[in-house]
Amino acid sequence: MASVRELIDKLEKNRHLDREEWQEVLTGYTEDDRRYAADKARAVSLGIYGNKVFIRGIVEFSNICKNDCYYCGIRRSNSEAQRYRLTADEILECCEEGYGLGFRTFVLQSGEDRGFSTQLLCETVRRIKAEYPDCAVTLSVGELETDEYRALRAAGADRYLLRHETADKAHYGKLHPVEMSWDNRMRCLGDLKKLGYQTGAGIMVGSPYQTAECIAEDMLFFERFRPEMIGIGPFLPHKDTPFRDREKGSYELTLFLLSLCRLLLPNVLLPATTALGTIRPDGREQGILSGANVIMPNLSPEAVRRKYMLYDNKVGTDTEAKKSVDEIRKRMAAIGYEVVVTRGDYNDKACDIR
Ligand code: SAM
Repeated sequence: MASVRELIDKLEKNRHLDREEWQEVLTGYTEDDRRYAADKARAVSLGIYGNKVFIRGIVEFSNICKNDCYYCGIRRSNSEAQRYRLTADEILECCEEGYGLGFRTFVLQSGEDRGFSTQLLCETVRRIKAEYPDCAVTLSVGELETDEYRALRAAGADRYLLRHETADKAHYGKLHPVEMSWDNRMRCLGDLKKLGYQTGAGIMVGSPYQTAECIAEDMLFFERFRPEMIGIGPFLPHKDTPFRDREKGSYELTLFLLSLCRLLLPNVLLPATTALGTIRPDGREQGILSGANVIMPNLSPEAVRRKYMLYDNKVGTDTEAKKSVDEIRKRMAAIGYEVVVTRGDYNDKACDIR
């Protein structure tokens, strides 16, 4: 079997590894290998997106959720969570503030809250697109019916984030109660792609029961599915969930996977996630230096921010939007990157930097 370095070179050249090769990379890598991959991934990202970092303003408009995912702080059974739902007007106010701060993408995220109907969400999307025609709208509201995705797309939604969580069906079953189905999650992702959304999939690194085999399966899934966006962050425990005593995910492995995703799908939009910034104070900078090119600061009203607690100690819940954007601009400048005022769409131009 080739060394990990040789496999990283092969991935860069062929944008493909087979299952055994992924497993070798994931079980055999050293810190030097990780840095080697980060350098390559950073060069690929610079070749396609330059030293530009795209920002997305995330509006967490409801923490009410019908699902009971074992890892998630806003799961239905968490009676400690103080539930809230913003109105469409309040969401529009967040966009207004965000627009002034330079955001040209708004991400509307929530639990699976049937009280905020798809019809109301369509109206909200239409209002945002009418008010800010130069902005993209990304939705991240979970699993819906095909017709609902179609209606939201017709209303003007451009992108959709739906992490697949794990490409291993048995692993999925250990993270979710029986009423949730891996097949349905995959059906949703297929629908989103077919409907023309820029589609985001992704995983938590170090989720309970995750093995190198699971992650190898995730990488094979990314290669097949070709998402325009990949959300990867460490699993972090939440004190009021069944996984409260589980180990958090590995920071280094998260960075390594960001780099491997950049090498696998060079053009992919890759956020340095809030969870990465939570696990380490400079996690998002290191994410960018490992090949990520997107940051998603919080635009939710301050009164509700602390209530959208997916995991303990989530970063940015005490900072107002303006301050956190200013801080991100400074932090990016310090590592030689520039936060830009643009929609930051997927760049599907052929990558010919090699
Ligand atoms: N309800 C929508 C959905 O299911 O896609 C969007 C909201 S959901 C809370 C967004 C993502 O948060 C999930 O896909 C999951 O990967 C992540 N997440 C939830 N709990 C987490 C935890 N304890 N640690 C890290 N990430 C977590």
